[in-house]
Amino acid sequence: MRSQKDPGTPAKNAEPTTVDVAIVGAGLAGTTLATLLGRDGRKVALIDPHQTHPDEFRAEKLGTGQGRLFEKLGLDSIVLPLMTPMDDIHVFRLGQLFARERRVEYGFSYGALINGLRAALPPQVPVTVAKVAEITTGPDKQRLVLNTGAIIEARLLVVATGHSEAVRRAIGVRRIEDSKGHSLSIGFDLAIPPSECGFQAVTCFSSRPEDRMAYISVFPIGGVMRANMFGYRQANEPWTKAFRKDPQKMLCEMMPEIAAQCGNFKVSGPVEIRPIDLTRTEGHRRDGVVFIGDAFCTTCPTPGVGITRVMADVDQLYSVHIPRWLETPGMAADKICAFYDDPVKVATDEDGMRVSYYARSITTGTGLEWRMRRLRNNTARQLMIIGRKIRHFGQRPAAVAKMQ
Ligand SMILES: Cc1cc2nc3c(=O)[nH]c(=O)nc-3n(C[C@H](O)[C@H](O)[C@H](O)COP(=O)(O)OP(=O)(O)OC[C@H]3O[C@@H](n4cnc5c(N)ncnc54)[C@H](O)[C@@H]3O)c2cc1C
Repeated sequence: MRSQKDPGTPAKNAEPTTVDVAIVGAGLAGTTLATLLGRDGRKVALIDPHQTHPDEFRAEKLGTGQGRLFEKLGLDSIVLPLMTPMDDIHVFRLGQLFARERRVEYGFSYGALINGLRAALPPQVPVTVAKVAEITTGPDKQRLVLNTGAIIEARLLVVATGHSEAVRRAIGVRRIEDSKGHSLSIGFDLAIPPSECGFQAVTCFSSRPEDRMAYISVFPIGGVMRANMFGYRQANEPWTKAFRKDPQKMLCEMMPEIAAQCGNFKVSGPVEIRPIDLTRTEGHRRDGVVFIGDAFCTTCPTPGVGITRVMADVDQLYSVHIPRWLETPGMAADKICAFYDDPVKVATDEDGMRVSYYARSITTGTGLEWRMRRLRNNTARQLMIIGRKIRHFGQRPAAVAKMQ
């Protein structure tokens, strides 16, 4: 049993509200879990300091497989109307059109997604807007004192506070930085509207290793063409400062093969630059409390697996573990550890880390092994491009475009 108190916010005496599950953090993990538990009639408290989730740069594109995760949990009817679908993605590699992918993906603004999920919460599970001032966890009962004076008692505490450290620190867990400054994510709007852009959506892989950029993805969110670029730079190095100053010039130099169709990369609005660390948690195997989503570990956005990891946590916790845990008395660490040792969770987290390291090495690795791998991959791609050109030689361009 342990207790932490924010000295600036003395708690008043109040009648505690008793729930099955208290969830701290109403982001993607917390809000989806609260929705699912609330639909099943569980008593849930969901706490977040912000009434409205800020419109910050986070995940903005949902892959086909990620869409299926929401579908599996019956959340697709909430999330898909908040997103812009696309089903014709031009992929450029080695400076040339490599493929036209006809699978369905979705563009969205993170703040709008989370606020939409919050608006669709079951009526008996509102967001309690407050900060947690005091936390006591134990094998039977978890107790939260909020800065409003309200007290919440729960059988299980779920920490879903993303990157934020306050609650994690109060409970006494540590974040381990496995790869600090692992990558850089850059987001900005293009001035060209979707109706005038030469592509419905385009992904262009960098053909110049010296740029240390993996790829740019340009896609619609409502009436705006949004760009996400992922690479391996530091936030404070001259390249990044130069990009912030004149993104249009640098993009035209880096990705000339798609520049004209993207309005010559004229940018509107701010360039958002986020350094990414790969992190995991230590000291989390304890009574009464479970850490999920980015509050448990963070991976790299380049391979786009963050949402997969978050939703796997939510799915396993909701479908497998919480029902079992609530069936019997107590919430000691042995119950909680079944989640951390869940093979689906373990495999999803490990895969997220593995592809995060792989994406960086295949883009920037200078050792012989990585140079050989790049050579092998690029040779295979070049042969595919040549093979397709030979197959389509003599056909009319419109017919070729349809077949690609
Ligand atoms: C720049 C960037 C780009 C990304 N791109 C992709 C991508 O393309 N594809 C992909 O799959 N993933 C991507 N990701 C990863 C993905 O966005 C995250 O994995 C996911 O959003 C994490 O969700 P979460 O619920 O764990 O955290 P969040 O959604 O951040 O939720 C945390 C919540 O906790 C609340 N909170 C914070 N402190 C407290 C406190 N003290 N008390 C109570 N509540 C608190 C916050 O207000 C927030 O509502 C990207 C990440 C970044 C940073």
